[in-house]
Formats: sequence, C-alpha cells, structure tokens
Amino acid sequence: MGKFLVSLRHLENWFVLQQRILPWRESPSTYRVWVSEIMLQQTQVITVIPFFERWVERFPTVQDLAHAELEEVLRYWAGLGYYSRARNLHRGAQKIVELGRLPQTRAEWLEVPGVGQYTAGAILSIAGHQPEAILDGNVERVLSRVRRVSRQKGDVEYKSRLWRLSRVFVETAHRHGIDPSHLNQSLMELGATICTPKKPKCSVCPLVHLCRGYEKKDADSFPPKKKPKVWVHLEEKVYAWVNDQGEVLLSVQPRGKWRAGLWDLPTEGPFPPLKKAALLGKIETQYVVTRHKVKRLTEVWGVQQQVKKKTWAVAESGFDTQSVRWISPGKIEVPVGAPTKKILIKIKELIS
Ligand code: SF4
Repeated sequence: MGKFLVSLRHLENWFVLQQRILPWRESPSTYRVWVSEIMLQQTQVITVIPFFERWVERFPTVQDLAHAELEEVLRYWAGLGYYSRARNLHRGAQKIVELGRLPQTRAEWLEVPGVGQYTAGAILSIAGHQPEAILDGNVERVLSRVRRVSRQKGDVEYKSRLWRLSRVFVETAHRHGIDPSHLNQSLMELGATICTPKKPKCSVCPLVHLCRGYEKKDADSFPPKKKPKVWVHLEEKVYAWVNDQGEVLLSVQPRGKWRAGLWDLPTEGPFPPLKKAALLGKIETQYVVTRHKVKRLTEVWGVQQQVKKKTWAVAESGFDTQSVRWISPGKIEVPVGAPTKKILIKIKELIS
C-alpha cells in the first residue's frame, strides 16, 4: 500500500501543477461538468472549447436550458455532431427541473437521458467530490497499462476488471485525504497528455514506479486491440430547390428520425413547380456517422416561384409551413448538421 499511496499523491500533485486550463474546470458546478462531459463524448477537447463557452453563455443554468426551445438548443449544438446528445441534454434539463433538484447519486444520474456509468461517475466525483469510479478511453489506457490488464474472458469481464481497479484508485485516495475530483481528473489528464496511445512519456509520468507495463517494457500492448471497425456504406439522394432569390428549401427532420429536429434538404421530388425548373448541377459529398460512410448526391434545381413562398411550400411540396423554410445559404438561421452546411456552401458557390 505504501508505494501505491505515494504514487497516488504524486499523481494528484502532478495534476494540480500541470493540468491544462479548460473552461469547464473554472467553477466546475454540476451543470457545467455535465454539459462538458456530454460534449466531450466522441469529440476532441479543442473542438469542444468554443462550443462549451457559447453554450454556457446562452444557457448558464439548468433552468435556462430546460426552458429553451429545442430548435435553439440544436442551433447552439450545430457543428458538434451526434445531435442526440443535445436532445438528451435538453430532455435531461427538463427532467431535473421537474424533479426540483439535481440528481445526487449514481442511480439518480443514470435516470437522466444520455447519462451512462462513465458520465455519472465523472459528474459525481468532479463536481460532487464523491469517491465514484470512472472509465473512459483515457482512463482505460492508463489503468490497463499500470496493471497490465488484458482481455481475457470476453469484453464484459475485461471492462469489469478495469471498473474495479478504478474504484480501488478513487476509494483508496479518498480514504487518505485525496480529493476524488483531483484523482479522477488526474487519471483522465494523464491518459490525454502523458500516457498517450503511441509513445507514452513514461519518463515524466507520476505513476512510473507503479506501472507494470513500464516495468515489463510492454506498455504499448495495452489496452488490448479492439476489432477493426466494419464500415457500412450508404448512398442517399437529396434535392436542393433554389428560388430566384438564391434561397434553398429546407425541411425539418421529424421526431424519431435520424437527425430529428435538424433542418436538411428534402429527399422527395420532383414537386409540380419543377415543370418550370432547370437542373443547375449535381453535387457529390461524403460524410461519416458512427460506423456509416454515406455518399450523398444532391441535385440542385432552380425553381421560379409563381406564388408566395409559404403558399408554394404548403400547396406544392406536400409539407406544412412548420416543416419547410426557405434559407439563404449565406445566412443559416436554423440548426443544420455539418453535411448539410457543407452542401449549402457548395450551392452558394454554384449559383453565384
Ligand atoms: S509509466 Fe508509461 S505506460 Fe505507465 S502509466 Fe505512465 S505513461 Fe502510461
């Protein structure tokens, strides 16, 4: 225990002195930590920083978020991808406001949409200073190397060994007066900056005297390799109807659909006004979502509006006025995903 405890103290000291300055580390309230942890899922720190700053300026409290319109919430998220995270934050805030207080335990946090075991542990330990375990990719790398944990009886057993190890770290630290907030953040920080996937900087690592991977000179073999991702290739076709003012018709994706709440180019067509339409060009783009590689073909059609914009949308498109809107590609005022934004820029180039 002596060497273990000394290493934990080294780790905490290292974190206090060397931690990166990040906006969510300033006044780390439960709300700020929750938002940052959700944003950091599948997104890099450097990308998240400006989104986080804009977000907490517009929605500084859980009440502000709960009372906002989903469309505005999605607009503040636009560009971060994986929009279910924004919808879950919004629903989670409404649930918390209904409850009348913030969740206090792991079980209560797990009831909040989008919060899993890792996020619950991170919020409770970082903001609440509770000795709760965490396990994300960075912590997995550090712990698997320190204890040379390899995958043995399938994935479930491997992960539960690491969760037990994470609990041992944070609970031991807590019993000896080390703040669980520091301990867990130091493991995350170590994985992000020192114990990196390639060429870990063991010579400056505060856990070097504890690390069996370093001792056996095989730290690089941990964590055990995952099976390579199997990509699913998809193709989709969408239509860009461009009116005589250079505006493009977008429709909102209904609830229950992929990208629900975001505005996108319609997949339907042709509509009756296309009798008077001219094909301006075709644009091919690609994007990646989780394990899908999607090839998107956009047909760009110029349409002459014979009737008022809204009437056109209702009468001819088959949508209702709530679900379609003419948008200027240079001034996008609705939440759109990155693939749509990319196409709108290309359309602007095509028609200018
Ligand atoms: S000694 Fe090296 S391998 Fe071990 S935890 Fe530190 S950086 Fe990672």
